[in-house]
Amino acid sequence: MSEKTILVWFRNDLRIRDNEILLEAVRKADKVLPVYCFDPFYFRKNPSGNPKTGNIRARFLLESVADLRKNLRALGGELIIRIGNPAEILPALAEQYHVNEVYHHREVAHEETEISELVETALWKIRLNLKHFIGHTLYHKEDLPFPIKDIPDSFAVFKKKIERDSNVRPCIGTPETIYTPSITNAGELPTLQELGLDEPADDPRAANAFTGGETAALNQLEQFFLNDDQLNANKNSRSSSGNNQSSKLSPWIALGCISLRQVYWEVIEHQHSNTHHTNLLILDLLWRDYFRFMFKKHGQKFLAAKNNDDTASLFAHNQDELFESWKNGETGIPLIDAIMHELNATGYINNYSRQITAGFLINDLKVDWTKGAAYFEEKLIDYSPASNWGNWAFIAGVNDARESRYVIASKPATELETKNDFIDTWLPAAKSIDLQVVQTELH
Ligand SMILES: Cc1cc2nc3c(=O)[nH]c(=O)nc-3n(C[C@H](O)[C@H](O)[C@H](O)COP(=O)(O)OP(=O)(O)OC[C@H]3O[C@@H](n4cnc5c(N)ncnc54)[C@H](O)[C@@H]3O)c2cc1C
Repeated sequence: MSEKTILVWFRNDLRIRDNEILLEAVRKADKVLPVYCFDPFYFRKNPSGNPKTGNIRARFLLESVADLRKNLRALGGELIIRIGNPAEILPALAEQYHVNEVYHHREVAHEETEISELVETALWKIRLNLKHFIGHTLYHKEDLPFPIKDIPDSFAVFKKKIERDSNVRPCIGTPETIYTPSITNAGELPTLQELGLDEPADDPRAANAFTGGETAALNQLEQFFLNDDQLNANKNSRSSSGNNQSSKLSPWIALGCISLRQVYWEVIEHQHSNTHHTNLLILDLLWRDYFRFMFKKHGQKFLAAKNNDDTASLFAHNQDELFESWKNGETGIPLIDAIMHELNATGYINNYSRQITAGFLINDLKVDWTKGAAYFEEKLIDYSPASNWGNWAFIAGVNDARESRYVIASKPATELETKNDFIDTWLPAAKSIDLQVVQTELH
C-alpha cells in the first residue's frame, strides 16, 4: 500500500500545541507536509496607499513563523515556507509531494474565507480535498447551545446562555514526532524588505515588548500568572492602575501562537484565589468568541450601516482632514493624541484606549468609522478581522448588537496603563483629566 501524505496549511494557527490539524494529520498520515505561505495579498497597499499589514505586525509574524519552524524541527519535522498565492503554491506542492489531502482551519472573515475558497477550487482541479477544521474559538461551534442562525446578538444573553449550557473542550495533545517527506527546498523566511516593508524602529517608551511565536506566548502567559500571584500576595498594594492589568496576549492569540482553550484551562488551573484578573481574562476571551460568531452568523451584514442612504450626510464635511489629524495624533486633545502616538510607535494600545479613540473619531470628529477600522488594521500588532471590525462596528452602533453597546466610562487617564510614557509626554496633566473633561474641552 502506498504512503499517505497530508499537507497541513498553517495560517492563523502558528503553534504545535492544541492544534487539531497538526495532531490529526500526524495520526492519519504516514508523512505530514507543514506549509506556510506569505501571501502578497496581505502585503499590498490599502486604498489609502499604506501597507495592509504594517511593519510592526509583519515583524511579529516573521518571528512567529520562525518559531513554528523551530518547534516543528524539534519534533523531527520541517516547515516549508513560500512567498506567493496559496491557490498556486499549495496545489503545486501537493503534486510535487504526492499529497492525498490538505488540512486547514476554517476562517470567518470575508477576505480569509475567499482565499480558502480559491485554494479549495484549485485543489479540486487536481482532485484533492481541502478539509476544514474548527479551531479558532474558545467554545467549539458544535457545542453551542444554539444553531449559528439563532446566536443571540446581545453579548449579555450570549454569555449567559453559553456559560450555562456549554463547556470548553479540553486541549488536545502535542505530536511527539512528525515525519515529513524528504524535502528538497524548504524555503527561507523572507525579510521585511522582501515583503515591501521597512524595519520598524523600537520606541524606548513602549510599555510592552512583543516577540512573535508560541515560545514567547507561553512565557507571556506565565508572566501574567506571576504578576497575578504577586498582586494576590499583597492585595493592599493593588492600586487602581494595577486593576487595569490585562494579559497582553492578543498579538499571539491573533496569530494562533497559543489557543484560547489553552489560555482558558491554564487560567482555571491558576484560579486558586478566584482573582479579579483571571476572571476578567476569561470574560475577554468570550468577547473574542462573540465577535467571531457574530461574523459567522451575519457575514458582512454585521458591518452594514444602519441607514446606508443617510450615512454620508452624517460625516463632517472636512472628514478627510480630521481623519489625518486623528491618525497623526494632532487633534489637539492630549489624551487622544497620546494614544495615537502610542499606536503609531508600538502597534499596541489597550482596550480602553481603543474604545476612546474609536469613539472620538466617530462621535466627536464625525468621521466614517470604516476609515478608523482600516487604519487600526494597518497598525495593530494584534489585528484580527472579526475583533477589529466587530469592535468598530459595535462602537459605531451599526450592527445588531446595539443593546449591549459599550458605554465609554469617564475613567481617569492614569488608569490607561501603569507605565505609559506616551501619556506622560503628551498629557502632562494626566492625573486630573478624564474623558468627560476632554469632551467638554472640545465644545
Ligand atoms: C476599536 C477596537 C478595535 C479592536 N481591534 C482588535 C483586534 O484587531 N484584535 C484583537 O485581538 N482585539 C481587538 N480589540 C479588542 C481588545 O482591545 C484587545 O483584544 C485587547 O486590548 C488586547 O489586550 P490584552 O491581550 O491585554 O487583552 P485581555 O484583556 O487580557 O483579553 C484577553 C484576550 O481576549 C480577547 N479580547 C479582549 N477584549 C476583546 C474585545 N473587546 N473584543 C475581542 N476580543 C477581545 C483578546 O484576544 C485578548 O488577548 C479591539 C477593540 C476595540 C475597541
